[in-house]
Amino acid sequence: MKLNYTLRNHLPKDLPSPPNATEEWYQVALAQANCTRRIKLAYSDDILGEVEFAITVSDLLKSMAAGSFNGLKLKQYLELGLIIPRYRVRHYLKEGGARVAPAFMVVRDLSYDANGYLQDLHLNEPLSYYRKAGLLIENPQPPWRATKAELRSSPLFTFSQVGQVLEIYRNTHFTLDLLNLSPEEYEDLRNDVLSSLKARLIEIGLPRFCARSECMKPLPPDSKRLYCSKHCQQKSLNTRKPKSTPRVARSYVRRRPFESFAEAPPFPPVIE
Ligand SMILES: [Zn+2]
Repeated sequence: MKLNYTLRNHLPKDLPSPPNATEEWYQVALAQANCTRRIKLAYSDDILGEVEFAITVSDLLKSMAAGSFNGLKLKQYLELGLIIPRYRVRHYLKEGGARVAPAFMVVRDLSYDANGYLQDLHLNEPLSYYRKAGLLIENPQPPWRATKAELRSSPLFTFSQVGQVLEIYRNTHFTLDLLNLSPEEYEDLRNDVLSSLKARLIEIGLPRFCARSECMKPLPPDSKRLYCSKHCQQKSLNTRKPKSTPRVARSYVRRRPFESFAEAPPFPPVIE
C-alpha cells in the first residue's frame, strides 16, 4: 500500500512521512477517510477537470486495491451516461469570436483537526469566475442531447461525483474464483449486476445495446450506430452471409444468441 498523489493531498501538510509500513497503512486509511469526508461535503465549487477527476478515481481505487481507472474508462462512462459532468466551461463566448482559454486556478484550503481528520474545505470561487466571464454551462445536457455550443466546452466534475464513479466501478468489477464458482452462481451474479446497471441506463434514457446478440454491450444513447465496434459489425455481417453450400455454412461459427441482455455469456469477462 502506497501513499499516492491523491492520498498525500488529503493529509495535513506537516504530517511527517511514515517511518514504517504500519504508519503508512494508518496514513492511507486516514487519507481515505478524508476523501470520503470531502465527497460528503459536496461543495459545488469543489470542481475537477477531466484529467484530475480520472486520477483521483484511479488513486483511490489503487489505495483500496480495488482495480484501475483511466481517462479511457471515464470516456466510456461519459458515453454511456453513467456519469454526466455537473458543469461545462465554454471554449467560445456566446457572441462568438476567437477561442478563449480560461486558466483559472482552483485554490483549495483543507483544514484538519489535531488527529489529522478533514474538518472543512475552503475554495476560491471558480464557478462565479466562470459565470461572470460568461463561460459557465450549469447542469449540461448529457452528451447525446448536447447542443453544438455545449460540445465546444470542457467538462467539470464535482469531487462528490468521484464517489458516484467509485460506486459504479465497484458494482461492476469483481474478482471471480472460477474454481469455486458454479455456472449457476456466475449467471446469478451477472444477472444481478447487469440488471442494476440496466436500471441505471433506463433512468437516463432509452438504453440501447450492440445489435450483435452475442455481445449486447450497452451503447451510448445518442449514437446511430448499431454495433459497439467494427469487430461486432463484421462478425454480424458474416453470420448473415448466405449459407449456400455445406462448405460455406461450415465456415461460419454459430453460437446460441442471448435472449436478453441479462443472460449470461459463455465466458466471464476479462478482468484487468
Ligand atoms: Zn458488440
